[in-house]
Amino acid sequence: MCGIIGVLGEGDVASQILDGLKRLEYRGYDSAGIATLNHGVLNRRRSEGKLVQLENMLQNAPLTGTTGVGHTRWATHGPATEENAHPHHSGRIAVVHNGIIENFKSLKDELMAAGYEFTSDTDTEVIAHLFAHHLGDSHDDANDIKTAAQKTFAKLEGSYAIGLIIDGHDDLMVMARHGSPLAVGHGDGAMFLGSDAFALAPFTNRITYLKDGDWGVMRRNKLDIFAASGQLAKRPMQMVDATVSMVDKGNHRHFMAKEIYEQPDVLSRTFGQYIDPATRCVVLPENMLDLSCVNRVMLVACG
Ligand code: GLU
Repeated sequence: MCGIIGVLGEGDVASQILDGLKRLEYRGYDSAGIATLNHGVLNRRRSEGKLVQLENMLQNAPLTGTTGVGHTRWATHGPATEENAHPHHSGRIAVVHNGIIENFKSLKDELMAAGYEFTSDTDTEVIAHLFAHHLGDSHDDANDIKTAAQKTFAKLEGSYAIGLIIDGHDDLMVMARHGSPLAVGHGDGAMFLGSDAFALAPFTNRITYLKDGDWGVMRRNKLDIFAASGQLAKRPMQMVDATVSMVDKGNHRHFMAKEIYEQPDVLSRTFGQYIDPATRCVVLPENMLDLSCVNRVMLVACG
């Protein structure tokens, strides 16, 4: 599992994106990258290895721009190289993606037959070309972008969390969630996209979670989320208590050590939400699964 950060900000956003990506390091990754938009110009920096390598690259060649997306990759299609690191781009589009596009091969064949050139081994690159294909040369009102988004996401099979920016549109970010988590953070004059609320904790505690199958378009002062059908969906904004300390390594040498030592605490917090402290009784949520109907339980685990 790896991570996505997107920022529609006020000043240059590359350092905020890097900061957000560092808070997703606990998920593991093998390469990383950032793309920003600066007055209609799309720029990328990508690196294999740890975020410190991307950080060094950014120190030598800074990225400017008030709109951007960043990614930590856990390679599934193609090795962990700079060419395969996200964001991937096609024309005016830059995209970051967590997950796997199961039908990428047939989409890639169609897009190559239509003249699109691929520069990576990833499944993700089809998303960039597909979106560029559907957007075409339109110069482009919100409806064109919405239509391109809906057509693109309707073609994807598999699991995905997606953040996408379009050059010429500094006040816009497209997103989609299908099987991989994604959250929007509401700032003051800024908006954020992240794989989880913890990554966005330094920026805001006002969070809207996309439901599975949702996609959307956000601007600095507006968030439109649509269900897969294309109907506008109402998703509540919630105040989230995701303290910054929960996503750093604390005094531990690495995240795995932190996870191991945190287990008693995490288990008691998890079970604790089902215990009424006044009566000391277990209180299960209403509408819970009727356990009397279950005759077989499978546990799948790792770690
Ligand atoms: N399947 C994509 C790739 O291999 C995304 C992997 C990820 O979730 O980071 O590039």
